[in-house]
Amino acid sequence: MINTPVCIIGAGPAGLVASLFLSKHGVAHTIFERKKEIGDKVCGECYDGRLANVLNKLDANLLPTMLAEQVLQPIEQYQYFNHKGKGLYIDAAKHNAVSRYSTYRKDFDTFLRAEVLKSPYARLNTGETVNNIVTHASGIEIITANTSIKSELAIIATGNLSMLANHARQAMPDHFLLAARGYYRHLNITEPHGFQVYLINKPVNGYLFINKLPKGLYTVEMFILKRYANKHGLNAEALLQQVIQQQPQVSRIMASAVLVEKIKGASLPSTANKHQSFSAERVLLAGSSGSGVNPLTGWGVGHAVFQGMCAAEQCVASLQAQQYGAEYLQQYDARLKKSLQNDWEKSQQVDFIMRYLHKSTGRFIGYAASNNYLNRIAEKAIVGV
Ligand SMILES: Cc1cc2nc3c(=O)[nH]c(=O)nc-3n(C[C@H](O)[C@H](O)[C@H](O)COP(=O)(O)OP(=O)(O)OC[C@H]3O[C@@H](n4cnc5c(N)ncnc54)[C@H](O)[C@@H]3O)c2cc1C
Repeated sequence: MINTPVCIIGAGPAGLVASLFLSKHGVAHTIFERKKEIGDKVCGECYDGRLANVLNKLDANLLPTMLAEQVLQPIEQYQYFNHKGKGLYIDAAKHNAVSRYSTYRKDFDTFLRAEVLKSPYARLNTGETVNNIVTHASGIEIITANTSIKSELAIIATGNLSMLANHARQAMPDHFLLAARGYYRHLNITEPHGFQVYLINKPVNGYLFINKLPKGLYTVEMFILKRYANKHGLNAEALLQQVIQQQPQVSRIMASAVLVEKIKGASLPSTANKHQSFSAERVLLAGSSGSGVNPLTGWGVGHAVFQGMCAAEQCVASLQAQQYGAEYLQQYDARLKKSLQNDWEKSQQVDFIMRYLHKSTGRFIGYAASNNYLNRIAEKAIVGV
């Protein structure tokens, strides 16, 4: 017996947006989320413009509400500094090309969850981990410690650490990056709504991001290659503080900064994998569980919510046609590949640069800082105009 037409596993941005689209289409569904409360996720909190498109498709009032309530804030300026302190400035507002948003991640997930809870079609079970899923000819069984329910389709949106996604993907992605993130207040930054990137080379190569969030908060986050950390026995959290003190511009900006939450570390994969499969019989993968995102380029949450939307729309089509087989669900893979392939290819290029061309990136920033032609190339790549 089928208990619910669709089951969503994981209530991050991908799962929550999948739920909102299912509700929009009047499809009853159950969501399982292993955490009781919305947790603190380490995230750079710079989201790409797909987010705005998806929210607008859902409900024209959502984006204006999120901006008015300061859940989201447009990013108007980007600054890139090389090791020598040379800076490349890119002004998105000048081109009327605001394409990215910043947010305090907890507020963002909380807002979406509250929207989900308004729907009579959604049933959210928090504090309940899905331990296994079993595909039968008559439906897919979702098994937790307390219950087992059967649905026609399952959307797996469990993030990048979950083995559950191996039902459809080929392998766990390689976690080659190490990140550390602190939330701060009172930075000496006067520019409006900016996002800053600093190349670091002491004690190891890496990148430090400063992202101005709504309500006077800043994310300060550092990425290094995991192999450096392992080789030098570095602890990412301690390293972030060391880099803040050693980098002259950053230490100036942060001279009177106040840390408001304990610094947290995370290891993560990066490249969105264009060879990945996103579906199997009765199963759709959405968000980072499908390795379809790249946190480094900020094609993370924007892509995750886009995939959540596509997964929900695929469920609607499958339920109408009563087709749940792997072959039919290939439509979902085809749609993702058509829309996202370009970004995935660019993501792989960024990863390549990150792994192997750290010095050259620094040189490029130095040249582009004082060369109009190179400046325009960078501007085009970053804000798309
Ligand atoms: C260090 C770092 C920096 C990043 N920076 C950025 C950035 O600047 N911009 C950007 O856009 N993206 C960034 N990202 C990526 C971004 O965080 C992800 O793209 C986004 O969280 C993906 O959303 P999701 O819904 O797919 O997964 P998640 O947000 O990970 O949500 C998955 C949910 O599934 C739940 N879950 C897992 N397993 C189970 C289970 N078995 N049963 C039930 N529930 C389960 C988890 O508790 C979680 O709530 C960053 C990521 C990291 C690690």
